Amino acid sequence: MSKKIVSYDPGNGDLIGDIEVTDIADIDKVVSSASDALANWMETGIDERVKILQRAYSNLESEMNQFAKLLAREMGKDIGRAGGEVSGTVYGGPYIARDVADALKKQDAGGGTSIEYRPLGVAAVISPWNYPLAMANNLIVPALVAGNTVVFKPSEETPLIAQKFVEGLNEILPENVLQIIHGDGEQGRVLVESNVNIIAFTGSQAVGKDIMKRASGQLKRLVMELGGNDPMIVLEDAGIESAARFAVASSFENAGQMCTSTERIYVDEKIADEFEDRVVEIASYYKVGPWDMQGVNIGPIINKKQHDKIVEHIYDAELKGARVLLGGSLQPERYINPTVIADMSEDMLLEKEETFGPVVAISRFKTIDEAIERANNSTYGLGAVVFGKVAAAAVADKMEAGMVGINRGVGGSGSSPWVGAKQSGFGYHGSPEGHRQFTQVRVVST
Ligand code: NAD
Repeated sequence: MSKKIVSYDPGNGDLIGDIEVTDIADIDKVVSSASDALANWMETGIDERVKILQRAYSNLESEMNQFAKLLAREMGKDIGRAGGEVSGTVYGGPYIARDVADALKKQDAGGGTSIEYRPLGVAAVISPWNYPLAMANNLIVPALVAGNTVVFKPSEETPLIAQKFVEGLNEILPENVLQIIHGDGEQGRVLVESNVNIIAFTGSQAVGKDIMKRASGQLKRLVMELGGNDPMIVLEDAGIESAARFAVASSFENAGQMCTSTERIYVDEKIADEFEDRVVEIASYYKVGPWDMQGVNIGPIINKKQHDKIVEHIYDAELKGARVLLGGSLQPERYINPTVIADMSEDMLLEKEETFGPVVAISRFKTIDEAIERANNSTYGLGAVVFGKVAAAAVADKMEAGMVGINRGVGGSGSSPWVGAKQSGFGYHGSPEGHRQFTQVRVVST
């Protein structure tokens, strides 16, 4: 009998639906049919592939409201945010496709040499649950436009929205160019070890390391967008209001379940009292509830394991002497009420690990060097943010992160890449460099 993944609303445990888990024995067949579909897809030519994708995304437009509702129910984010993710995906897909085609144009290097960008083959796209469409889309589009075929494994937490997305695109795409398999780490591991040529992964650091080991035998190409433990430094001359607003918004976004959410805040002791007071005030306005509640800002936590982890981090901080300014380790089922913790210290889980929950964790510093040292004392290096005036740029320059924000959040404009440093991964979402990851570069000299 075939196994099923059952999908529940994380806000109340209601059953949403189920979907068949892909049999381990079938994964090689899926990859092999993706491989068979390659020749035609490559021959289609890049401009035509862009047009086909544009049609495929237009095909989703009439269903955007249903998509948003399903995404919200399955992942837990409120309907406004879910709608934003859906429209970003549906309208962003064709935009990314054109960007990719531009990045992959043959280049003349002079002296009779040209540089070409050829498809790699079959791409495995493995994605997380926190932005179940956006994260997958950022990698599926460049993979397909480059002429690869794709086998997509979404998270086992959000299989239904992923299935609906792929079904919608596949009404237009040629057969087996984009396929989906369902399951958890077991299916993921088998896919990684199958005959795929590139693995584009977004998820946790631990799984990224496992994928890297398994991919090494055939030296498969890897794109790794992993977790973060993003620091924020608030300097003495920072605007308290803007810093406090950012600290709360970035710690609570998507119920804290965002790779670049602010996880640790280091504030100059001279302004710490005022900063903490304002953070608590702002955090108290945040409303916790299910995806369809009016005015909700913080949705449920995706599952019990993640909920337990957040509570453990808060409890650990309490045990080690932190001051609880709001919320705390006593939390309801499924949700985490806005929590603000002060006097975070280096031995606390809040400081050392990615908490991934709606917690503002604050520590005071005496010297800027001490703040920089603690901010950088992490294996992660996804984003880092500095608020302040005179020394802000100099401090930002010392941040060991792929993306740095000065008096604002991380993430550049236009075609800039989304990129991590250190063990937050390597490879990019977006940008010409990012799109070229899905190709084999060929240098042809005459
Ligand atoms: P996860 O690593 O547990 O799972 C991600 C995906 O990998 C899922 O589809 C899962 O089934 C699959 N998987 C699990 N074990 C596997 C294995 N051994 N081999 C192959 N696939 C396997 O991550 P998650 O809990 O879904 O997502 C949260 C994490 O993702 C956080 O760490 C977050 O910071 C990170 N994230 C990073 C970015 C980024 O852009 N850097 C974006 C979103 C999320």
